[in-house]
Amino acid sequence: MAEGSMHAGNPQRPPVFRFAPSPNGPLHLGHALSAILNHDMAKAAGGRFLLRIEDIDVTRCTPAFEQAVYDDLAWLGLHWETPVRRQSDHIAHYRSALDRLIGMGLAYPAFMTRGEVKAAVAAAEANGAVWPRDPDGAPLYPPADRKLDEPTRASRIAAGNRHAWRLDMAKAVSIAGDGLNWQESGDGETGTIVADAGAWGDVVLWRSDAPSSYHLSVVLDDALQGVTHVVRGLDLFHATAVHRLLQRLLDLPEPLYHHHRLILDGDGRKLSKSEGSTGIAELRGKGFTPSDVRRLVGIVTD
Ligand code: GLU
Repeated sequence: MAEGSMHAGNPQRPPVFRFAPSPNGPLHLGHALSAILNHDMAKAAGGRFLLRIEDIDVTRCTPAFEQAVYDDLAWLGLHWETPVRRQSDHIAHYRSALDRLIGMGLAYPAFMTRGEVKAAVAAAEANGAVWPRDPDGAPLYPPADRKLDEPTRASRIAAGNRHAWRLDMAKAVSIAGDGLNWQESGDGETGTIVADAGAWGDVVLWRSDAPSSYHLSVVLDDALQGVTHVVRGLDLFHATAVHRLLQRLLDLPEPLYHHHRLILDGDGRKLSKSEGSTGIAELRGKGFTPSDVRRLVGIVTD
């Protein structure tokens, strides 16, 4: 394991690590690995360990799941600083960053529903087009809304048309300029990684069904909380390109990144929150100890 191989920039200030779960289901072994790594790496570096509750998705996050996060982490023997930052308490902060991007001409209202996007992509593919996809395999947002003129946008918003806000990626990449990269010390590719944000297309900055978006709130909170080391799963490796782009556009500092291996199920798939068998609470109920969990996720303590 590459613990201890990340170097913090400022020798005067202790490094800051964070575990940032979304309380939309029970924590499983993948979360345990992430939380324990952050906690242990912070401790080894004489740093701080923060817990952040990423609960902007009000349709899926619940107070019961949030309480379960605290219970599971405490049972694992982890100690975090309080008060805990809960994203749902800071929507105005994310909104002001969105307004700044709108003011820079980099965000536009996107009116197409998921169904409409699907239909547009299917129609293009039926005609033999190869529709571009993002690193997670999702089709990029069609360009139509990016081209709407201001009066059309204003009248559709005034008429109450449901919309998200998306980043105009081509414009954002050209304003950000060359040399966008990040320093990586995780379990995949390491060293200086070129940040190809353009591969994600016009990402969502503000959802139509929930305030803010993962990308926007995560970079704002990491900056506001002084996070120096982002330690999280390899499933977020490529998303880091978007985060580096937003950090540059919004003049935010650049943390170091460490994307750790994922815990897979018996079929080689990433664990999901619906799989009770690897849930931390379920293991606790079956009589497993915190040391057993450390062993199960491959962290050797003795
Ligand atoms: N909230 C995200 C999740 O639960 C993690 C975000 C991050 O660590 O950057 O998957």
